[in-house]
Amino acid sequence: SLDGNKAAVRDQFPGLPEGWHYLDSAATAQKPQAVIDAITRAYAHDYATVHRGVYERSAMMTQSYEAARSAAASLIGGKPEDTVFTRGATEAINLVAQSWGRDNLKAGDRILLSTLEHHSNIVPWQMLAREVGAIIDICPISDDGRIDLEAMEKMLTEEHRLVALAHVSNVFGSILDARTATQLAHRVGAKILLDGCQAAPRIPVDIGAIGCDFYVWSAHKLYGPTGIGALTSPLLSDMPPYQGGGSMIDRVTFEETTYAPAPTRFEAGTPHIVGAIGLHAAVDWLREQDVLNLHRHESGLVAFAREELSRIEGLTLYGSDDSAGIVSFNLDGVHGHDVATILDDAGVAVRAGHHCAQPLMDHLGVSATVRASFAAHSSAEDVAALMKGLEKVKRIFG
Ligand code: PMP
Repeated sequence: SLDGNKAAVRDQFPGLPEGWHYLDSAATAQKPQAVIDAITRAYAHDYATVHRGVYERSAMMTQSYEAARSAAASLIGGKPEDTVFTRGATEAINLVAQSWGRDNLKAGDRILLSTLEHHSNIVPWQMLAREVGAIIDICPISDDGRIDLEAMEKMLTEEHRLVALAHVSNVFGSILDARTATQLAHRVGAKILLDGCQAAPRIPVDIGAIGCDFYVWSAHKLYGPTGIGALTSPLLSDMPPYQGGGSMIDRVTFEETTYAPAPTRFEAGTPHIVGAIGLHAAVDWLREQDVLNLHRHESGLVAFAREELSRIEGLTLYGSDDSAGIVSFNLDGVHGHDVATILDDAGVAVRAGHHCAQPLMDHLGVSATVRASFAAHSSAEDVAALMKGLEKVKRIFG
């Protein structure tokens, strides 16, 4: 049943009081006690800097930090030596644009994005394109919210150096056929970056099987802390540094500085040590739940929610039935912000707005959508509360 998991899982989230229905996990996930405990323990008992101390506490912390790197890598089937900790997916994409991008793109080269990308997978490429004189092309999406790979195949040329796509859409929840997209990119000699923000917490990911060149994600969407995420790429050792500072160097003189090997070269300054430990706890927690199991759970909730929502007159549903835990919709004649405000009164937290995907809103011809997104702790009760809240919206707006 949809609620089979509920009591056991929901009870692990102290941030979810009885009667509150959190349907905004796609923005950021609530934290299980195991993650909160790991962070508290790290600050209260184990805290010290990494990579520098010769004393035992620091050596232990360094081990924990590197163990977190291994966990971050193995979550998506990558290698620790290919994995850099960043502030999140946004910083990871900026790193690739500024380091790999500036080194590899020149005037006239092309970058392929899609209509449904998050601003963080658009703006860094626009900045790069402006700097080097590259051109950005936009792959269209289908009516049910999927990146159109047939169109992509026709659009890709030898001038394309990079393809950057969301693995799972943060608005529709649609899942990209990442392996096919990678093969199409590689066929013309382009590299491919996958934005795994919504995929890593929701579906099993194996970048070895996908074959992509860059994979990025954020811990806070994966039941972990804010301020940390990861980039995994086998190309790191050929890439120049992104930021300069302590910890990323081999030897510094005023005449010349040589850099540490990857991934250290990309981690200037004291890192988010406890963030990495929280990320590790989150990865362990996700694995205990079994992400395939979670995907089935969230897919069941999507199917149930879409069926219920489709009964509401004047409601437009976006995306497709096989979405990974995310449902977007609009009610005729009611702004999303009004829907979300009334739902909030009813104890239901949803996101309303452009979801950092303004070009997608333009494509849909709307200024906003209402988005309900599910997580491990979500249940049919949350969907029922959403439906009840929407009845109230309908009553108020006639
Ligand atoms: N890409 C997608 C698909 C997202 O959903 C998000 C977060 N909304 C981001 C990128 C940016 O992630 P962050 O803000 O954690 O860097």
